[in-house]
Amino acid sequence: MTYKKATLLLLTTLSSSTTFPCVDLSWFKRDKIINSLYASAYGDALGRVTEFIPTTEGIFNKYPNGVSSFDDFTKEDWQGIPEMYTHSEKAPYTDDTAMALLVTEVLIQSQKEQWDLNKTMSEIAYSFIKDKGNIAYGWAAPFRAPGNACLKGVLTLEQRLAHINPSKDWWNVEATQAGGCGSVMRAFPFGLVFHDDSEKAKLWAVEHSKLTHGHPIALAACAAMAVGTTACVNNRRIRKGGYIIKGGCIIKDTPQPIIEKMMLAALDYDAGTAQKIRKALNYAKEAKALLNKSGDTIQQALKNPSFRAFHDKVFAEFPGWAADDAIAATVYVFALFPTDLESTLYVGVHTPGDSDSIAAMSGALVGAYHGGISESNIAKLEDSDRINSLANSIHVKSNRPHYPDIPRDC
Ligand SMILES: [Mg+2]
Repeated sequence: MTYKKATLLLLTTLSSSTTFPCVDLSWFKRDKIINSLYASAYGDALGRVTEFIPTTEGIFNKYPNGVSSFDDFTKEDWQGIPEMYTHSEKAPYTDDTAMALLVTEVLIQSQKEQWDLNKTMSEIAYSFIKDKGNIAYGWAAPFRAPGNACLKGVLTLEQRLAHINPSKDWWNVEATQAGGCGSVMRAFPFGLVFHDDSEKAKLWAVEHSKLTHGHPIALAACAAMAVGTTACVNNRRIRKGGYIIKGGCIIKDTPQPIIEKMMLAALDYDAGTAQKIRKALNYAKEAKALLNKSGDTIQQALKNPSFRAFHDKVFAEFPGWAADDAIAATVYVFALFPTDLESTLYVGVHTPGDSDSIAAMSGALVGAYHGGISESNIAKLEDSDRINSLANSIHVKSNRPHYPDIPRDC
């Protein structure tokens, strides 16, 4: 009997039984969580040097070969940051990662101690306030380029805390006009920590937005990001070439079902944001067709005037400064290169808009969907040990019932 026939016989025997085998898949989800946190921080740290260059052309004027790793940084990029980083040549991340890591820390504790919503949001608020006091290295340190709405929101939280009896939802600063990307950039940890409960990840990410950003586009973007991250962590293992094994069959995987979930999540809070996500998905299909036609890598394509014009059109429409544009830009990049982290981050970093946030958010999704981070990526990244330790502290259930992951003819 061949191995394949023996496998089929085993599957038939198992499927006729009421008990499915228990396979420990925790390593697989753990790997996705580690890759997501690392890829986000790495993309953020790469994008720090291009965030305020307002055109793609300007980026290539400064970096003729582009920015693919920290080795492409100029001498100037290692200046204007605390000496600690210059001396150690550790590339710092920006406010995006600094706040996302604070959120991750609190959520891990929340899950462990079974905190409710108010307790969890209050602890995130305390954490933001405390870290803001770390003027040299905290999330609000000038070299991390913190956003105005985050600064304003956390200042309000600080003032509220000065009252003896703050109300139980004191953490909602009612900033209903704040619709920047400052909350969606730190929303993906909800999808990582609560990967077993997509609804909780969505609702709590939305509530957490209200600490600084209460506009419907910010709430919609946070909902989409949390749901998208959860779906990526729970997606099957992607094989070489973008294939997965589903129901025992080898099929080509596509992130479209995940993006549709993101759209639906956004729709609960803002229809316009959901429409932008759909448009971004269509732009990604157009971009993919252009790349297939030319046969270019993204590095080559961005030097090609016609693809560059398309790229600039997409990011002029979705520059990423506002929450709805940031989630649309993220979806565009994710849909374009779902299984290629290097190309994902390259697109994000070489955008005329909020490059660090786009790279960080798309890195979080692709890291969770497919992985792709390497030792060399993180060797010069600030706080890589802390990121690793946090990722390993996220609770992942083991021994879940599962069909054997063995392919067959379909
Ligand atoms: Mg930033």
